Amino acid sequence: MGNCVDFAAIKRSVGLALVLGRYHVLLRRSGRDQYRGRCPLHGGEGREAFHANLTRNLFHCFSCGAGGTVLDFVAAMEGCTLREAALRLEQDASAGSPAAAAVDDGKQRVTKKSKVPTPLGFVLRSMHSAHPYLAARGIEQRTATGFGVGFYRGPGVFCGRLVIPIHNQRGELVAYCGRALDGSEPRYRFPPGFAKSEILFNLHRAAATGERTVVLVEGFFDCMKVYQAGTRAVVALMGAALYPSQQRALLERFRRVILMLDGDSAGQRATGTITARLRTHCALRVIHLPAQTQPDLLSDEEIRHILEIDVNGQAWHDPALGRAC
Ligand SMILES: [Zn+2]
Repeated sequence: MGNCVDFAAIKRSVGLALVLGRYHVLLRRSGRDQYRGRCPLHGGEGREAFHANLTRNLFHCFSCGAGGTVLDFVAAMEGCTLREAALRLEQDASAGSPAAAAVDDGKQRVTKKSKVPTPLGFVLRSMHSAHPYLAARGIEQRTATGFGVGFYRGPGVFCGRLVIPIHNQRGELVAYCGRALDGSEPRYRFPPGFAKSEILFNLHRAAATGERTVVLVEGFFDCMKVYQAGTRAVVALMGAALYPSQQRALLERFRRVILMLDGDSAGQRATGTITARLRTHCALRVIHLPAQTQPDLLSDEEIRHILEIDVNGQAWHDPALGRAC
């Protein structure tokens, strides 16, 4: 065991985002490099009590008063000394985990060209599903593995990105989307000319459940979170619009749709548009999330709670009955 621990070097080199990710701390962005959320140390009620500043690499909880550097955080989480915390972080660093960006607001950039995607002739290898970015967004490793999502270090445009495989409704791999983790643009990189309007993300898995009810969300992470919370029949638009091909594919397989888009203004607008489009074609339940919320920011438990209300059949609009039922 080394007798000299370089505390300053650790505080400088180990990112708070990485450490928060390790402990599955889920925060939401509240400023340029500012994040807020429930305090993982005292676990209290305050949803905004815990603040993290990724530039200064410091955290502070306004409820329990805890605060400091990555070392203070690890020591508090583990109930160990600062020295033990430092040794632990040194070990983690030598194990070679790449630093990651923390939570994000999940906006997507998409292309608008139209061409039915054909199956890819290759598969990316050596993807790491245990990346801390996924943990920071509340995605469990087995969820990531199930979706084939992982950090990619190989050659090509997706190098250093989190890659998300996209399949057509027959389950054939048609594209990868690369999610930037270092703030580079585009945040979501699709292949040139990829027609997202022709694809519903996760439709092949959702259809295989045999369920008649499907949850419709905006993004990849929303989809993975709903799936992880136990609702396997969930598909994502990869944006905030429902295109005709997507609508057709959706209605071919499902009779009831639970629409759960982001709570922001774009999501609210899309909810109105899509509701108008779907309500005469299927039973529809619309979930209005609060303005600052989107499905991937909810805990598994919160998602289950929201969807359980639906099981009781509240507020379903059924075109056969011509009213909400
Ligand atoms: Zn606290």
